[in-house]
Amino acid sequence: MAFRATVLTLYPEMFPGYLGYSLAGKAMERGQWSLDTLQIRDFATDKHRTVDDTPAGGGAGMVLKPDVLARAIDSASENDSRPRLLMSPRGKPLTQERVRELASGDGVIIVCGRFEGVDQRVIDARELEEVSIGDYVLSGGEFPALVVLDAVARLLPGVLGDDRSAVEESFDSGLLDWPHYTRPVEFEGRKVPDVLQGGHHADIQRWRLKQAVARTWLRRPDLIARGGLPKDAAALLDEFLAEREGEEHG
Ligand code: SAH
Repeated sequence: MAFRATVLTLYPEMFPGYLGYSLAGKAMERGQWSLDTLQIRDFATDKHRTVDDTPAGGGAGMVLKPDVLARAIDSASENDSRPRLLMSPRGKPLTQERVRELASGDGVIIVCGRFEGVDQRVIDARELEEVSIGDYVLSGGEFPALVVLDAVARLLPGVLGDDRSAVEESFDSGLLDWPHYTRPVEFEGRKVPDVLQGGHHADIQRWRLKQAVARTWLRRPDLIARGGLPKDAAALLDEFLAEREGEEHG
């Protein structure tokens, strides 16, 4: 069965939006995945279809009501074991590893918060997995939901066309990607590195791995601290550091 995403939001017209284009959009047209939305407001029961209320204890902003949201979640997840995500700046930061796990499942239910957020009791009662897309605050969970689904959609079988392009990229090896080049060979006086023009596969792989290790070491030492270095990478990092040392003193 194809991957099925359901998004709970106050702004269903924002979907598929960005996801209707390019790889994800074409894959959706081919039926390789589907996206439906539920309007949270449809689950309000009062005359004004109220979805939010003032925060208990006082303070600014509004909070999404637990009863309304719980009904929306229950309607989306009847006889359904898909993971239930709540987009939230307090959540666990999204990683490529979690994206891979999601992509290997049947689908996902995503709740988009708004205002000050969601009543804690519905998070607990419906066991929502809080997921953050980064350490900054947006005004709603819709962009974060698009981010999660874009990251997932490009990993679904057949979506990227060339399955290798999803294997060799940032984070999969615990490293950032290496630099890419294409034609022309010379651009504003800058040339494509010689090794990439030589056609010697082993040299090219070695050069790429070294670039990836060096970049990760310089820009994201936290990734190396977390995962350690891949086996053949440690020697390349030493080589890079020695060369740098040489440049500094030479
Ligand atoms: N008061 C909250 C912020 C609410 S922002 C706090 O300080 O933590 C409103 C909604 O936007 C949130 O409920 C969430 O769904 C979404 N959102 C904002 N920033 C986000 C982020 N970095 N990652 C994921 N969701 C985010």
